[in-house]
Amino acid sequence: MDCIFCKIIKGEIPSKKAYEDSYCYAFHDINPQAPTHILVVPKEHICCTDMINAENSVYVAKIFEAIPKIAAEAGLKNGYRVITNCGDDACQTVKHLHFHIMGGRKLPENMG
Ligand code: 5GP
Ligand code: ZN
Repeated sequence: MDCIFCKIIKGEIPSKKAYEDSYCYAFHDINPQAPTHILVVPKEHICCTDMINAENSVYVAKIFEAIPKIAAEAGLKNGYRVITNCGDDACQTVKHLHFHIMGGRKLPENMG
């Protein structure tokens, strides 16, 4: 499968690692939209939120257990935003489920 994030997880494409456990991998976005912009991805290929189900939702739960650790490690003491884009209207560009963690400055109130 030709998936950029699967290749990043396998180390076939280099990335700046922020966190890793047996369920997820986190790395710094190549084109940051905030002073801190980290992506967290499940180690199983799930294309987007539409494909989350009872068999794979443990990956999502584990990601959300990891997010506070990742944010603390990144020094996001004053808060942060977690976003996932699903499908064309949300402008999802990489079809491997990922959660953006953004912070390091006051973010815009308007999200869409
Ligand atoms: P989406 O628009 O699908 O929600 O977000 C995809 C994100 O992946 C974008 O913020 C983009 O900058 C990031 N991205 C795409 N390709 C790469 C890559 O090869 N390395 C890293 N670190 N980030 C990437
Ligand atoms: Zn993938």
